[in-house]
Amino acid sequence: MAPTHHPSAQSLANFLIGDCSPGAALLLTRHVDLCPRCASRVQALGAAGVAPSELANGETQRLQPGLEVTTISGASGLGEAVYLIKAAPELALPLELPLPLAELLVLEGALVVDGKAYRKGDFLSLDDTPRKELISGASGCNCLATAHDPDGGVEA
Ligand SMILES: [Zn+2]
Repeated sequence: MAPTHHPSAQSLANFLIGDCSPGAALLLTRHVDLCPRCASRVQALGAAGVAPSELANGETQRLQPGLEVTTISGASGLGEAVYLIKAAPELALPLELPLPLAELLVLEGALVVDGKAYRKGDFLSLDDTPRKELISGASGCNCLATAHDPDGGVEA
């Protein structure tokens, strides 16, 4: 099934001219891979295609029972962190886990955001989410996420 929650046209346009963080670019690239609608929009805007960068999984932290967060290196820009989040079924995700979340892309399972289901390939910007109530679905979820990291993002 194609994704039903998309990045804004402005986000896509910024992404295409390189005016977005590497972490956001990673989430958008993955979304466009899974989303025929955004793929055709990107083509219409004249993108040559964006090669995904090499990613490496860093340390996995267990934040609470049923919630694990793995730092992804090689994708974060200045002032941001990129995470792979694994949540057990029907778990409320803390928004500040361990850094404030900015954007999410669902990879597996489902995430219910303010009462709406987000599934594989769906993109979410927390700036556009009023209540910011994130609960994993009945089979849990895996998500890629960017977070604000004021002290981080400078990688060797
Ligand atoms: Zn889309």
